[in-house]
Amino acid sequence: MNTLVTSLYIVAFALFIYGLMGLTGPKTAVRGNWIAAVGMGIALIATLLLPGMSTWVLILIGIVIGTLLGVPSARQVKMTAMPQMVALFNGVGGGAVALIAWVEFRDAPGYVGHPTYFVVASLFSAVVGSISFWGSLIAYGKLQEILPGRPIGLGRAQIGLNALLLVAAIVLAVVIGTGGTSELLIVGVLLIAAVLGVMVVLPIGGADMPVVISLLNAFTGLAAAATGLALSNTAMIVAGMIVGASGSILTDQMAKAMNRSIPSIVAGGFGGSGTAVGGADGVDRTVKSTSAADAAIQMAYAEQVVVVPGYGMAVAQAQHAVKDMAKLLEAKGVTVKYAIHPVAGRMPGHMNVLLAEADVPYESLKEMDDINGEFARTDVALVIGANDVTNPAARNDSSSPIYGMPILNVDEAHNVIVLKRSMNSGFAGIDNPLFYSDRTSMLFGDAKKSVSEVTEELKAL
Ligand code: NDP
Repeated sequence: MNTLVTSLYIVAFALFIYGLMGLTGPKTAVRGNWIAAVGMGIALIATLLLPGMSTWVLILIGIVIGTLLGVPSARQVKMTAMPQMVALFNGVGGGAVALIAWVEFRDAPGYVGHPTYFVVASLFSAVVGSISFWGSLIAYGKLQEILPGRPIGLGRAQIGLNALLLVAAIVLAVVIGTGGTSELLIVGVLLIAAVLGVMVVLPIGGADMPVVISLLNAFTGLAAAATGLALSNTAMIVAGMIVGASGSILTDQMAKAMNRSIPSIVAGGFGGSGTAVGGADGVDRTVKSTSAADAAIQMAYAEQVVVVPGYGMAVAQAQHAVKDMAKLLEAKGVTVKYAIHPVAGRMPGHMNVLLAEADVPYESLKEMDDINGEFARTDVALVIGANDVTNPAARNDSSSPIYGMPILNVDEAHNVIVLKRSMNSGFAGIDNPLFYSDRTSMLFGDAKKSVSEVTEELKAL
């Protein structure tokens, strides 16, 4: 039986890694997901075949509840709500490993008689799993707008309080590690870690939340790997390490794309939810409005149009309309390219996924570094629901909160047409000087409606 389980585990690991490789591009991502899911199914079956597995009814009930909750929510979730969905699912993983640590504590009791590695790994899982569960719930609440997106904290005192909570959790863990058997000790560890998870995430602004989710995801992976170590379960060790490693790399890449350091994100205080900002500083600035008809004429006579999609395109679900408009422009001899910023939207690869769904040829999608040099010779940059990723303040205003974040140099195009509904800010909650530039015209309205109107005008030309 053990050889069979080991063989099945090896097949599952190979599928995890092969599936993960598929996630590197939108064309192979769906297949990659399926491959990894099949791997997880095989790992589950292998685990159920382990000797001593007897609680079949309980396991079955767990599978039914998980399926009933997981499948409909995953099918119905909107693409724009994906980060909070990931937060919730990831948090549940953290909570599960924390509960395993508790169950093991009750079994011994108090880890007495277990080797040191078991005790250390279990306590690590209890602390990190609980932090991850509660922190992920707060992240979910913020992104779902159940909680305010703005930073909520105690200011400078916050770091001191968090350090105190961490020390308290470690002290209780040491008491357990040196033979403490009272159940209050493990409950204390879990509760203190829970408060710590809440306290760490509450002061972080909404704009940084997807990075925090990725970080908590990495934590959950490490906690699961530690549980695997304690339980001598290779599948948990390998799957946990894959999640831990890929989550860490993703966190690092997202932080770099926003020009933020991970410690500064965790220290909190940046970003909130979108608010009206036009002229908020008292400076009288006016914007130029345009119509769908004028936008169509400008683009029809252009040599090159660069489409710059952002979060608003996702909200409006305008990707198919954009593709139809681009086809018409191309039929008129206009070159159409798409400029993809690494953190446009609300999750890595968000724009690639949407445009791939609309069958926009992958070759037309240009990464930020490849397209930035082209804006200066672009006739029209068509900004569709993008804001922060086009904000020139990131390049030339050292007082801006997003100063240093690499942006798309849209302001260098001969003409800029911005499609959005109002003068509201983007995720970072700040004004965008691009909108007040002489070269910029605003086409106010829902992005899908505006693009469709432009398309109708193009047909009439
Ligand atoms: P932004 O959030 O900066 O701006 C989106 C704009 O879309 C808003 O100003 C809004 O203006 C407009 N909009 C919303 N709905 C519609 C609609 N239906 N039709 C037309 N316009 C609409 O988006 P960006 O993509 O430019 O930037 C992404 C932001 O998210 C960055 O700050 C980035 O750092 C952050 N972020 C992204 C992550 C990622 O992985 N992608 C991760 C972490 C953070 P209005 O309300 O006036 O319509």
